[in-house]
Amino acid sequence: MNDASSARTTVQRPRRRLGLLLCLLAALIAMLAVRADLRRPAAAFVSARIAHLVYETAGLSPRTIYGWRLTIAGLGDSTLARRWRAAPEQATPTRWRRQERAHLTFAADTVSARVFVVRLARGEALRWQLRRPSDDTPVLYATLEYRAEAADTWQTLARLSADDQPHRRVIEHAGDYRFVFQPELLAAVRADWAAAAGGSIPMPVKGARSRDIGGGFGVPRDGGARRHEGVDIFAGRGTPVVAVVDGRVSRRTGGLGGEAIFLSGGFGQPSYYYAHLDRFAVADGARVERGEVIGYVGNSGNAAGGPTHLHFGIYAGGGAIDPAAFIRPMPRLPALANRTTDNG
Ligand SMILES: [Zn+2]
Repeated sequence: MNDASSARTTVQRPRRRLGLLLCLLAALIAMLAVRADLRRPAAAFVSARIAHLVYETAGLSPRTIYGWRLTIAGLGDSTLARRWRAAPEQATPTRWRRQERAHLTFAADTVSARVFVVRLARGEALRWQLRRPSDDTPVLYATLEYRAEAADTWQTLARLSADDQPHRRVIEHAGDYRFVFQPELLAAVRADWAAAAGGSIPMPVKGARSRDIGGGFGVPRDGGARRHEGVDIFAGRGTPVVAVVDGRVSRRTGGLGGEAIFLSGGFGQPSYYYAHLDRFAVADGARVERGEVIGYVGNSGNAAGGPTHLHFGIYAGGGAIDPAAFIRPMPRLPALANRTTDNG
């Protein structure tokens, strides 16, 4: 008897759960049907999730999908369609480094693509902006794509929107990144694009420049017993040291780092390590904002007797990361070419 009754409850429980789920779903559908203001964010959320699924999981680009549409339209094997599909790989890519911009013009009687490649390290930030004349209606396929070092296929990361707004992406994987522009078949399209690459966090020592950075990441220390897990930024004693992200300060005293701070940006974010401070500017456990002074450059710990400097390290899930790319000068977007007076 006991066995039978317990079996009945285990059958009833999933059924009750399914019923509850259906009720919730019905309520959600009813709410979305009535409330137009809720419908739009819900649709945007769903389309963003689908875009993520298509680009990041399946690795399909909007260009690939358009290629399929050409096939469905019966143009799949035509010379024209083949040339269209091959255009991005046939184009001579423009390699750039810190800043790039272009006025893109595609004529209706040519099949071509424009490609701009930049090599980026982990911790760099990429910014871009795309504008199209308001009277331009044909589709322009504009994508940001990624290729890992030693890989030969490109993966689409984002479809660029021609909203004339600056966009930003922090680089998590080192490799080549490219912007690809290609209009739909037989369409005349104009667009203005600009991009810039640089660091993703501010310089931790106020007023310091790239030339003040020494003591490279990974070089042997203590006769090879350990490696240098950061960079040294040289500055005079008492130079302010600032928070590179919003976060919480955890003070350390003693040990190799002397007076040191761990700045934590929150769950899943890297931790930033500041060592050899002369003194602290904030209390242990303090919440600070990016740019706030948290301490002053010194030579405490095992830097005693040597030149004053900040030892700066970045730690993420996998251990220490080279901070050099993170603290490069931040990207500055060049102004888009103003073509309003251009008649061509
Ligand atoms: Zn150091």
